[in-house]
Amino acid sequence: MIEKSKHLFERAQQSIPGGVNSPVRAFKSVGGTPLFIKKAKGAYLYDADDNRYIDYIASWGPMILGHAHDEVVKAIQEQALSSTSYGAPTELEIEMAELIISMVPNVDLIRMVSSGTEACMSAIRLARGYTGKNKIIKFEGCYHGHADSFLVKAGSGVATLNIQTVPGVTAGVANDTLTCAYNDLAAVEQLVEENKNQIAAIIVEPVAGNMGCILPQPGFLEGLRRICDKENIVFIFDEVMTGFRLAPGGAQEKLHVNADLVTYGKVIGGGMPVGAFGGKKEIMQHIAPLGNVYQAGTLSGNPIAMIAGYTTLKILKDHPHIYHELEEKTIYLRDNLHRVFLETKIPFVINQFGSMISVHFSNHAVNDFGSAASANNELFKKYFHAMLQRGIYLPPSAFESWFLNNVLTKEDLDNTIEATRESLSEIL
Ligand SMILES: *Cc1c(COP(=O)(O)O)cnc(C)c1O
Repeated sequence: MIEKSKHLFERAQQSIPGGVNSPVRAFKSVGGTPLFIKKAKGAYLYDADDNRYIDYIASWGPMILGHAHDEVVKAIQEQALSSTSYGAPTELEIEMAELIISMVPNVDLIRMVSSGTEACMSAIRLARGYTGKNKIIKFEGCYHGHADSFLVKAGSGVATLNIQTVPGVTAGVANDTLTCAYNDLAAVEQLVEENKNQIAAIIVEPVAGNMGCILPQPGFLEGLRRICDKENIVFIFDEVMTGFRLAPGGAQEKLHVNADLVTYGKVIGGGMPVGAFGGKKEIMQHIAPLGNVYQAGTLSGNPIAMIAGYTTLKILKDHPHIYHELEEKTIYLRDNLHRVFLETKIPFVINQFGSMISVHFSNHAVNDFGSAASANNELFKKYFHAMLQRGIYLPPSAFESWFLNNVLTKEDLDNTIEATRESLSEIL
């Protein structure tokens, strides 16, 4: 019974484009009615009809500690009493910056913004201002937010809706964005050779999460690091998804590769709209007001957003075992899903890294956008809906990673595994 969600979706479409404020939420690629959420607590979402779901989206990553975490909620409530915004500097922003710098490698200075999009957009501008070069290299299927430069062969909703070129992005901008297949180091080398002294930055999701979960193959990130060093290119890790999720120090720490600039979002705000970009002082000092690369935000460093993020990050820093538990849970889920899928005859690939995991119905390895796109996404749709009916809320697209949160219990995981067994026997 999702009658109320159906009514709300009809009503929403009268006043909001497509009924949603971010495209993937509309369930367009899986079909059916998006659920309208009334509340969430811990590992569970509750829709308008009071159905309960085990949540594997976690607001697309941020809710790593579970929904409505007591400490985070309390901190937000207390701050709200002292006003929700000042537009002037606060001590809280210093504490946030110091906390981030104490957790992540290679960040001397960090600037707060209000979304992952802003963080990536600003990092690219900074890389261009710093190097005096114009072009960037990104990877097919990687998503760095919706700024013009990144909407070339992008992942996430752009891939889900199969939008090849985005109307509104000028050819001038698109021509400065060069793309390669993820994990294809030779293609990057060739592109850099063909565009000698023109590449300002290479931006990469160190573990890709916007075409399902895709792991960097051994040597890929190290190879990019080498090329950037040799050619004087700024190496940008987009850790909007992986930051504070794979480890306190994100993918840089987990994979032992150093970036020049790093972008953050999602977990960094603990569910509030926060992004950040940071890096070595030598580069970051070109940002205004220190330098002339302009970047600003009326609500940047907003106190409510800062306290939600700060409280979340402090819990993660003080309890690093959370990362081991998250990984253990995800491996348990992976191994048991593997066992259940094997009992059927359908080809499948489960990619997992830390607390990120995804399922592709494919008979070959999924390690770039091409292999993700050629999987059986019709079957994914059916699997998604069969799971949803059983109270399991997976991302509504095969081009998205699932995110585990730390309050999922073994019982939740076992229910998910059992729901998969039932779903597969229903749909196959
Ligand atoms: C979500 C995401 C973004 C965009 O962040 P928004 O807060 O949605 O603007 C950028 N990069 C990556 C890797 C992401 O997953």
